[in-house]
Amino acid sequence: MMRVLIIEDEIKTAEYLQQGLSECGYIVDYALTGADGLHLFRTQEYELVLLDVNLPEKDGWSILQEIRLGSDTRIIMLTASGRLSNKVKGLELGADDYLVKPFEFPELVARIRSVLRRSEKISEADAVQVADLEIDSARRVVYRSGQRIELTAKEFSLLLLLMRNAGVVMTRTQIVSLVWDINFDCDTNVVDVSIKRLRAKIDEPFQNKLIHTLRGVGYVLEDRQ
Ligand code: CA
Repeated sequence: MMRVLIIEDEIKTAEYLQQGLSECGYIVDYALTGADGLHLFRTQEYELVLLDVNLPEKDGWSILQEIRLGSDTRIIMLTASGRLSNKVKGLELGADDYLVKPFEFPELVARIRSVLRRSEKISEADAVQVADLEIDSARRVVYRSGQRIELTAKEFSLLLLLMRNAGVVMTRTQIVSLVWDINFDCDTNVVDVSIKRLRAKIDEPFQNKLIHTLRGVGYVLEDRQ
């Protein structure tokens, strides 16, 4: 049974989502404030969080950042605004998907299934090594030349995708759909920004660069030495 936490201050919406998702077989708790939501999150185990952006006191962005400090639990943001800058912000802060209110309930269920399916796939993986770069998805650690490298949850997912497909060019569209799971304009720079941050950690301090750009196409991770 999958456990879902809803953090949403509109009680009717929270109750409606709880009832609907319970009928789909999920175990669902909800919190009406960010503080209560974080408390539940820290004291219970959840596979997924549905997180409203507009919350009183502590907003959804702060909650998202606090959760991401120590957890890669799947998070879907719920928001009243479809503005692209908000989507980019959510994804860069580590949200897995983004749903604009009002949404149809079946659409929410489809997104939840997709996000959870992807996390199952990710957790199945073993350790992968390319040159002196090693990633272990079970232990969620990355080493380069024997040095441990700290990555954010999204950087980790991105690196895992590139390493599992070492030598294969990944387009921006593929990267967005596999790492962030969202239908998203490819001309946004979220992938480039994330790659830049990843490079700064895993490539820049080292002689042998592993992430290569194919201008206008995407990225490939491979050992070219
Ligand atoms: Ca709200």
